[in-house]
Amino acid sequence: MKRYSAFAIAREALRNHTGWERAWSSPEPRRRYDAIIVGAGGHGLATAYYLGKNHGVRNVAILEKGWLGGGNTGRNTTIIRSNYLQDPSAAIYEKARSLYETLSQELNYNIMFSPRGVMMLAQTEHEVRGYRRTAQANALQGVDTEFIGPKRVKELCPIIRLEGPRYPVLGALWQPRAGTARHDAVAWGYARACSDMGMHVIQNCEVTGVRREGGRVTGVDTTRGPIDCDKLGIVVAGHSGRLAEMAGFRLPIESVALQALVSEPIKPVMDVVVMANTVHGYMSQSDKGEMVIGGGADGYNNYTQRGSFHHVEETVRALIETFPMLSRLKMLRWWGGIVDMTGDRSPIISKTPVEGVFINCGWGTGGFKAIPGSGWAMAELMARGEPGPLAAEFSLDRFREGRFIDESVAAGVAH
Ligand SMILES: Cc1cc2nc3c(=O)[nH]c(=O)nc-3n(C[C@H](O)[C@H](O)[C@H](O)COP(=O)(O)OP(=O)(O)OC[C@H]3O[C@@H](n4cnc5c(N)ncnc54)[C@H](O)[C@@H]3O)c2cc1C
Repeated sequence: MKRYSAFAIAREALRNHTGWERAWSSPEPRRRYDAIIVGAGGHGLATAYYLGKNHGVRNVAILEKGWLGGGNTGRNTTIIRSNYLQDPSAAIYEKARSLYETLSQELNYNIMFSPRGVMMLAQTEHEVRGYRRTAQANALQGVDTEFIGPKRVKELCPIIRLEGPRYPVLGALWQPRAGTARHDAVAWGYARACSDMGMHVIQNCEVTGVRREGGRVTGVDTTRGPIDCDKLGIVVAGHSGRLAEMAGFRLPIESVALQALVSEPIKPVMDVVVMANTVHGYMSQSDKGEMVIGGGADGYNNYTQRGSFHHVEETVRALIETFPMLSRLKMLRWWGGIVDMTGDRSPIISKTPVEGVFINCGWGTGGFKAIPGSGWAMAELMARGEPGPLAAEFSLDRFREGRFIDESVAAGVAH
């Protein structure tokens, strides 16, 4: 595949843009692959990419029921950070964050990673103590964060009101190298790189059954016919429970709708990401100028990809408290995705009771930031059949053995 470069843009400008190649091919499915990944979201595509790049497994198909990145990957608010409390979480999220730093160069695709800094506001004494503790844990883990006072918060984000009507801003957990990236570009960049390695990215191909023989996977049934495989990776976020059911096992997962909205575009007013977990809302400004606003998850299980009125009201109310200038903006779009939540709010990257079937799910409201690290760890698990150091603690067994990785504070409201 031809590389993207300034020279290529100049060349194509001179020949009326007739020489660009398709970014990825749309092949017919083969009868058999060494490995099949179900789900062409960021995690599925990254898994395939690192299977090829790190382990030389390239006879791979990524099957997607809709369109590439059309699940949560294309619906999230793109926050990337690694300021989690527990060691296994910090390790995988920091691995992902550091891979994001150079992902554009690695994939030769501009994913627009913007390490603009993320602050999580402390608005109660309880939060101050919690975030001070996280900053200390992060220092031990080698993750660069600090607890900052209200004066510094205001310097970094002048549109914040420090003395809110309900909760004053008492400080914040600040991660200067956290930030955002363009979500579609992450999916497109990985898809292009996978296609370039000869892998098949197959859209409009829903997996409808998992075929097994003697406790081992032999292939899948799809809307485009049966396909055989030696190894199967299930990477379908909010649909994980349904795929697990097809493979004959159960997951400790709940699927719920999570929503977000954007305002009309305005001139630059904010060059950091702010999360206000007590009042329950978070915001950043996109390159187009829209204020990107994230809300909460539904309080009941469902598979609907849409928003709900009471959440919009709560979220906008919370953010107007924190940023009064928002009250003068019109909201433009509003949408939802289906996220998969575990009881300890940590992901699952694991072998399953079916030999040859591996699962990657449970990223809940915050898996975009983890895509490169998750793909790296899942590829290692699928290639070797055993988890490497990044995935070892995230096995399904932890729910049976009570080895929870409790991230309910770091991941509950915040994304
Ligand atoms: C509103 C919202 C805001 C969020 N904000 C953030 C944020 O700021 N930061 C952050 O880190 N995370 C955020 N997240 C979470 C993040 O989006 C997800 O954790 C992450 O995108 C999950 O990626 P994925 O690749 O696992 O899933 P997805 O992108 O959902 O991909 C799974 C794919 O599997 C496909 N699929 C399902 N069933 C089948 C089948 N039977 N056959 C074939 N294909 C199938 C789906 O169509 C889908 O494309 C947010 C999520 C939402 C909804």
